[in-house]
Amino acid sequence: MIREMREVIVAANWKMHTTPADAGELARAIAGRTRVAGVTRVICPPFVCLATVGDALLELDPDIGIGAQNVHHELQGAYTGEVSAAMLAGLASWVIIGHSERRRDAGETDELLGRKLGRAVDAGLRPILCVGEQLDEREAGQQSAVVRRQLRGALHDRDPAKLAGIGLVVAYEPVWAIGTGRTATGADAAAMAVVIRDTLGEFGFARRGETIPVLYGGSVTSAAIGEFMAEPSIDGALVGGASLKPDEMAGIVARAGVTAVARGLTG
Ligand code: PEP
Repeated sequence: MIREMREVIVAANWKMHTTPADAGELARAIAGRTRVAGVTRVICPPFVCLATVGDALLELDPDIGIGAQNVHHELQGAYTGEVSAAMLAGLASWVIIGHSERRRDAGETDELLGRKLGRAVDAGLRPILCVGEQLDEREAGQQSAVVRRQLRGALHDRDPAKLAGIGLVVAYEPVWAIGTGRTATGADAAAMAVVIRDTLGEFGFARRGETIPVLYGGSVTSAAIGEFMAEPSIDGALVGGASLKPDEMAGIVARAGVTAVARGLTG
């Protein structure tokens, strides 16, 4: 059954933490604690730490994917301070697109995120597209409508076959749960995974999006992860604050590994 075959993924978003001087050590500490069969691990450090983290993991644990936290929507040009998809080649194989902190701080719109998705696909970067509602939207019962609008806005000009081919991942991250210590419930996340896959289905993704991994993100810790991994429709986590703590990452990936075993992913 397709649902049981979906990949299990734990992605670490280090945000604006670490420097080239200390990122390698943190990456090595995480690698040493998270070798768990069947779980795809990804570390997304700041741009300036990508090379250090890559070097640190090259021999120690090349199975860990390295991701950027953002990519520019143009190929190249007069965009001071920006980083293009081509610049990431060789440094990263994943990219986070549409994190709520970038939507908030950089004014990224769904249309712009769609263009970033296109650049990522063309450069061979595997995108983790973040969607999620604000607290007032959740309180008004608008979470499904918001997430549908975000997905439709980002995907309407994209080729679903290319996105599925590169391994699109969607992260459901309710904004009120990010960095707040307050998580959604497993049931909330599962309900939103249905909305996400249903919306992907509108765009011609095979089997109504059933093959696309959906992660939960928002104050995930080693204590909280179990509730999400117990949901068959949730395929892992995008982890912020706790991803800077190797012990926490060890606990999170270990629990994800239980789901990987249950799905028969450990070969
Ligand atoms: C994130 O950065 O995507 C995130 C979910 O952060 P935190 O785990 O700290 O809430």
